[in-house]
Amino acid sequence: MTKQRLLFLGPPGAGKGTQAQQLAARQGLLHLSTGDLLRAEVAAGTPLGQEAQAVMARGELVSDGLVLAIVRSRLEQQAASLNRGEPGPRGWLLDGFPRNLAQAEALEALLNELNQPIELVVLMELDDGVLMQRLLSRGRDDDNTAVIQHRLEVYRQQTAPLIAHYRQQNLLEPVAAEGSVDEVAARIESLLQ
Ligand code: ADP
Repeated sequence: MTKQRLLFLGPPGAGKGTQAQQLAARQGLLHLSTGDLLRAEVAAGTPLGQEAQAVMARGELVSDGLVLAIVRSRLEQQAASLNRGEPGPRGWLLDGFPRNLAQAEALEALLNELNQPIELVVLMELDDGVLMQRLLSRGRDDDNTAVIQHRLEVYRQQTAPLIAHYRQQNLLEPVAAEGSVDEVAARIESLLQ
């Protein structure tokens, strides 16, 4: 059967969001982007959004507890709906989460509870020069040179250790993230079988 519980890992600018959204739509998976969910909270001016806003603008990580609460509520909701036999996505694609080892461990505990192990971790790889160009042309609030550099550093220090973590679990599949959106999508899709 096609793999349907997926993580997307990779530096900011590698195209995780674009690929995750398209793949989730094609495969009928729930797409959970912690970046998108946090930006929605900021835009709605909720207390959670207010707490996250300054941290995101600096390119640092929002607290583990906060992102975990967001992910937990969505995954529990989906699992409950599945258990009730309701129609809806049967799998999920996590994009931008986990971003450090503590988040990865908390996620594993949650997934054990739900009896839903991760089936595949897609690592999107791209070199730094291309990343920087892509991010600068995107023009989001937190996309200026200094903040981008900081986000890359945070990625290297906190998120990149997850590569070894998932490799050890035999879940990791690297994908070259250069080329057109469709080319990259085809590479990723070939890993789902
Ligand atoms: P990118 O992939 O371009 O870095 P995201 O949309 O994934 O962007 O995230 C934007 C910002 O949201 C991050 O820089 C960080 O401040 C916050 N964020 C997103 N996901 C997480 C997470 N899992 N843990 C902590 N902070 C997060």
